[in-house]
Amino acid sequence: MTAIVTDTLVVGSGAGGLAAAVTARLGGLDVIVVEKEAQFGGASARSGGWLWIPCNPHARAAGMEDTPAEARRYLQHEAANHFDGDRVDAFLANGPEMVSFFEKNTAVKFVLGPAFSDYHPNAPGAKPGGRSIVAEPFDGRELGPEIKRLRPPLPEITFLGMMIGSGKELLHFFNVTRSLKSAGYVGMLLARYARDLALHGRAMRLTNGNALIGRLVKSALDLGIPIRTSSGLRELIVRDGRVVGGIVDTSDGPIEIHARRGVVLAAGGFPRNVERRKALYPHAPTGQEHFSPAPPGNTGDGLGVAERVGAAIVTDYPNPAAWAPVSRVPRRDGSTGLFPHFIDRAKPGVIAVTPAGERFVNEANSYHDFMQGLFKATPKGTDVRAFLITDHPTLRRYGLGFVKPFPVPLSPYLGNGYLKKGRTLRDLALAAGIAPEAFDATVRGYNDTARRGEDPAFGRGSTAYNRYLGDPDVKPNPCVAPIETGPFYAVEVVPGELGTFAGIRCDAHARVLDATGTPIAGLYAAGNDAASIMGGNYPGGGITLGPAMTFGYIAARHMEQNPVAPSDEELPQGTRA
Ligand SMILES: Cc1cc2nc3c(=O)[nH]c(=O)nc-3n(C[C@H](O)[C@H](O)[C@H](O)COP(=O)(O)OP(=O)(O)OC[C@H]3O[C@@H](n4cnc5c(N)ncnc54)[C@H](O)[C@@H]3O)c2cc1C
Repeated sequence: MTAIVTDTLVVGSGAGGLAAAVTARLGGLDVIVVEKEAQFGGASARSGGWLWIPCNPHARAAGMEDTPAEARRYLQHEAANHFDGDRVDAFLANGPEMVSFFEKNTAVKFVLGPAFSDYHPNAPGAKPGGRSIVAEPFDGRELGPEIKRLRPPLPEITFLGMMIGSGKELLHFFNVTRSLKSAGYVGMLLARYARDLALHGRAMRLTNGNALIGRLVKSALDLGIPIRTSSGLRELIVRDGRVVGGIVDTSDGPIEIHARRGVVLAAGGFPRNVERRKALYPHAPTGQEHFSPAPPGNTGDGLGVAERVGAAIVTDYPNPAAWAPVSRVPRRDGSTGLFPHFIDRAKPGVIAVTPAGERFVNEANSYHDFMQGLFKATPKGTDVRAFLITDHPTLRRYGLGFVKPFPVPLSPYLGNGYLKKGRTLRDLALAAGIAPEAFDATVRGYNDTARRGEDPAFGRGSTAYNRYLGDPDVKPNPCVAPIETGPFYAVEVVPGELGTFAGIRCDAHARVLDATGTPIAGLYAAGNDAASIMGGNYPGGGITLGPAMTFGYIAARHMEQNPVAPSDEELPQGTRA
């Protein structure tokens, strides 16, 4: 079998893996990244590109007040019994440093979301903004021909293939028919997109997760780090109790990659592993009752190889994954896309009901909290599903899920069954399969107080996070308006997630631990392969990518500082990376 020797083998080319690879290379180590899929970027490339980093340098520069102690208090509250003080402290100490390191030494750049509130802003230590940063848009032309290997975003969250940045940029799209400035801005983006399509056959203005991965890949390639796609780690190689490399399946057959300093597992957790879903997701008794927008390669390989060399897996979090409602979008080619519902639920004039016609949660809360509410409201043994409900003016103003606002026509969404419509509330209930009497009573009850901008039943608009996602032009409550001007509409949502929380037990240096809590020498984990430090909760925007990059950075730093690997002589003869 061909054998290659390097210092650091990184498994997976998402944010966790690439952060580890770039840091290790800048620390003087030889690095190889292996990626099972033909494209790099994983779920990170599909993501919003937000990182939650309390006390990040951008917030400090903007004069926003925060301290590690406050962030710690917040995480202690959020993770409760699963709070791991050592790992949280490592995250809080290294997160801001990681951001500065990347911005100083690489093509990775971020922008602050000053008003992007923590998801539980009334909890102790929470902040109404400043902890979330997002990757700055990136010109895909800088990747040259490598752009072909970049995993594109989910088609359902683009506008006809064009990527839309999630902060101010998205607001311009909502306001395109109401503000000249927004119309001009959107016109400029569309013209640029048309030019990119003509010249490159795809959008070259990368935003969100595509910008994050574009920037990380650019940094890796500039440093000469090979990213070997279509190369999946099959097994780890262990010698004398130490992980010294891995066997990797490639199109030319298996190869051995020997890693003097160690292996970083960053294969993206197990969102596409049906057996683990079956074991850990209570709502998915066969593993199939769940709809993951993560890429197909995220099948839990990292957890599997780690377990086989004795790693402990954390499975007892109250939530094993970062839940999010998704709707199923029929595509022209007969396949089904998934649309994750991040912001529409908070708009004034939108509520959610179960098939029994009842509301069950403050819909403007986070996707994770929305789903927990729905799990509780769903009778045992029945499918978990709900409907987002709105009326005509609201639908045309904000869209709903995959349905775009005016002037995009509604007919395609009605034609393929994605959007259900009824002239009256009762008609809508019958069209969507919702219990009509209860539904009618629910909407009328909601409207009675919504006319005053109040939602005493569930408190829409009661937190800074709710209001951040609402419409500031709607007074007095940016998240509340009645649903009373027909026709009425519904979109069905089902359980999905943004990645898994359960994962490999690790310490504060990102080292993988065995069942006794002892580090397995030479083995590290970052990103969703590592058990989340959030303990199964979802405290804020970017709580998976922030720790993913930070623990990738920590793992690489630990490898640099601990040259305890076998000497070159002990390793098989092979080509250096
Ligand atoms: C629509 C959407 C929006 C999101 N927005 C955000 C956000 O804004 N902020 C945030 O924090 N989180 C967000 N998330 C979640 C976030 O994308 C993931 O938690 C994160 O990308 C995980 O990063 P990772 O590095 O662990 O894995 P990934 O980015 O998934 O990378 C793992 C890679 O490993 C590869 N791999 C798997 N097995 C092997 C193997 N055997 N050998 C080699 N390679 C292998 C996979 O193919 C994959 O490319 C979002 C998720 C979605 C779906």
